[in-house]
Amino acid sequence: MDDRDGVIWLDGQLVPWRDARIHVLTHTLHYGMGVFEGIRAYNTERGTAIFRLPEHTRRFFGSARILQMDIGYDQDTINQAIVQCVRENNLQSAYIRPMSFYGSEGMGLHADNLKVHTMIAAWEWGAYLGAENMERGIRIKTSSFTRHHVNVTMCRAKANGNYMNSMMALQEATRDGYDEALLLDVDGFVCEGSGENFFMVRDGVLYTPELTSCLEGITRDTVITLAGEMGIPVKEKRITRDEAYLADEAFFTGTAAEVTPIRELDNRTIGEGCRGPITGKLQQAYFDAVEGRSPGHEGWLTFV
Ligand code: PMP
Repeated sequence: MDDRDGVIWLDGQLVPWRDARIHVLTHTLHYGMGVFEGIRAYNTERGTAIFRLPEHTRRFFGSARILQMDIGYDQDTINQAIVQCVRENNLQSAYIRPMSFYGSEGMGLHADNLKVHTMIAAWEWGAYLGAENMERGIRIKTSSFTRHHVNVTMCRAKANGNYMNSMMALQEATRDGYDEALLLDVDGFVCEGSGENFFMVRDGVLYTPELTSCLEGITRDTVITLAGEMGIPVKEKRITRDEAYLADEAFFTGTAAEVTPIRELDNRTIGEGCRGPITGKLQQAYFDAVEGRSPGHEGWLTFV
C-alpha cells in the first residue's frame, strides 16, 4: 500500500503518498489507542460523491471523544480535507480512511505529552467480500472469539485497538475456509461480523441486533431507513444463534461490505442458499442511494 502515486492528507497538508511516514515509536502502534473511519465515495451521474460524509465525520469525532483524544480540527475542516483527498487523487470512486493517532513524543502508558496526528488516505477499492458474492452470498461461521464486553472496550468508538478482536475472528474463519466470522456478544447473542453489522429476515420481518456491543453502523442505519420506506417491518432485538439458523435470509452491512448476502451459517444453508428477495431489494436500494439514483436521498451525497 505504501508504494504508489498520489497524495495523503497528513496534519493539514497533502504529502506525496510515499512520504507519509511515521516513526516506529508511534504510540498508537504500541498500544492501539487511536480512532479511524471507513468511508466510500461512488461514481454517480453527477460526478463522484462521498456517501454520508457528515455522519462518518461525526462518528469519527464521537470515537475521539470517547477516547478523550483531541483531534485538533473541527468537523468542517475534516470534511473538506476528505473531499480534497478524493479530488486530488483523481478518484472516481474510493474507499477513504481517516485516522487520528498519537505520535512518538513519549512511550509508556503514562505518556502525557503526546501529539494527536490525523491522516486521510483514499484509494480505489472494489467489493470487500468479493464481487461474485454480492449475488451468490457468503459462507460464515460463528466465531470462537466473543465480541467485546461494553465495559472492557468502548464499542461505540471505532478505535484501532478494538480491531484485534475482529482480526482474530476473521483469521480463524478464513483459515477454516469461510468468508467471514459471526461474533456473539458476552451473553451469547448474535452481535456482528468482524467489520459488518448483521441482519436477518424471518417471515417478512427484518431483524438486527440492538446497539449494545456492535458498532453503530452507518450502513445499518441506511438499510433500516430504506427498509422503512419500502414498508418492510424492522425490529432491533436480541437474536439467538439458533434463531439465525432459522432465518429465511441474512446479510451483512458495512461501508466496505456494502450489503453482502449470507448464504450459509455454521454449515447450515440460509433460506434458498443464495441472495434472498428482500436482501436483493435492499441491496438494490442501497446501490441506488450511494450511486445517486435514489430520489429523496440526494442529501446523503457530498459531491467532490
Ligand atoms: N461493525 C464493525 C465492527 C465495523 O468495523 C464496521 C465497519 N465500520 C461496521 C460494523 C459497519 O459500520 P458502517 O456501516 O458504518 O461501515
